[in-house]
Amino acid sequence: METVGRFAPSPSGRIHLGNILCCLLAWLSARQKGGKVVLRIEDLDTARCPRRYAEIMLEDLRWLGLDWDEGPEADSGSGPYYQSERTALYEAALEKLRDKGLVYPCFCTRAELHAASAPHRSDGQAIYTGTCRRLTEAERAEKRRPPALRLAVPDEDWGFTDGHMGPYRENLARDCGDFLLRRSDGMFAYQLAVVVDDAAMGVTEVVRGSDLLSSTPRQLYLYRLLGLKAPEFIHFPLLLSADGRRLSKRDADAGLEDLRGKLTSEEILGRLAFLGGFNPSAEAKSAKALLADFDWARVPREDIRIPEGLFGR
Ligand code: GLU
Repeated sequence: METVGRFAPSPSGRIHLGNILCCLLAWLSARQKGGKVVLRIEDLDTARCPRRYAEIMLEDLRWLGLDWDEGPEADSGSGPYYQSERTALYEAALEKLRDKGLVYPCFCTRAELHAASAPHRSDGQAIYTGTCRRLTEAERAEKRRPPALRLAVPDEDWGFTDGHMGPYRENLARDCGDFLLRRSDGMFAYQLAVVVDDAAMGVTEVVRGSDLLSSTPRQLYLYRLLGLKAPEFIHFPLLLSADGRRLSKRDADAGLEDLRGKLTSEEILGRLAFLGGFNPSAEAKSAKALLADFDWARVPREDIRIPEGLFGR
């Protein structure tokens, strides 16, 4: 079976080193197996992800030499490749889950969901305790606000073996709780959209940062409910700033806007690959040249701090 990898960035700002490492790893992992790469723009939150940011991102990826076989400007039948244009597919998946009787409206406010008394998981996310699952039809009818929609999850352990991080499991009810499928403003949730899209686009291998490892059991549960074949999952450690924080779009010195002004694309990729363990030195190399030495076994499993000055001129 042909390997189909993908990049699925959210264009909420200019891409940074963490996003670039993600695209580079997805690209190398698929290309090394002779596979192809799909690019999907995860712009469900259209207010935060305006189209002009996506256009800059396409240009940045091209500048980096990370090409795609299918995606914006290369539609081979499973497009559109902007999630904001794929709502009919999410609607259809939601309908299937409704038919199974697993979807219910949730009227909880943000303040109620994030109250200090609510249980939280280790990554800080609140665990939904099922308040609205227990509402009667009459109680629902009395509510005055538009509801979000949640998926009722079973008290079951869901585990899988990650292609890089090894075995991971969690109990859907206890560690996560009933999760959102659609927000009260109508925006579909990442968990639903990512599953629908990866399946529809024939993705066989999902490469992404370990911050999404804990989303995977929820996604596997959705694959099962929707009768879709799940891809292989490969999570890699996160890049941290020199002072140990997770990179964000606010770290200007890690953003491509700043980096493009002082380094070539090969310098950026070579240094990232050095941090990722698959370039013996920080020597400048193109994505194609990095294919020769790429090996998941060399990539660390612990988060990676970017040494001060590594991406200086
Ligand atoms: N759109 C997500 C992000 O940019 C990635 C989702 C995924 O890879 O599953 O963080």
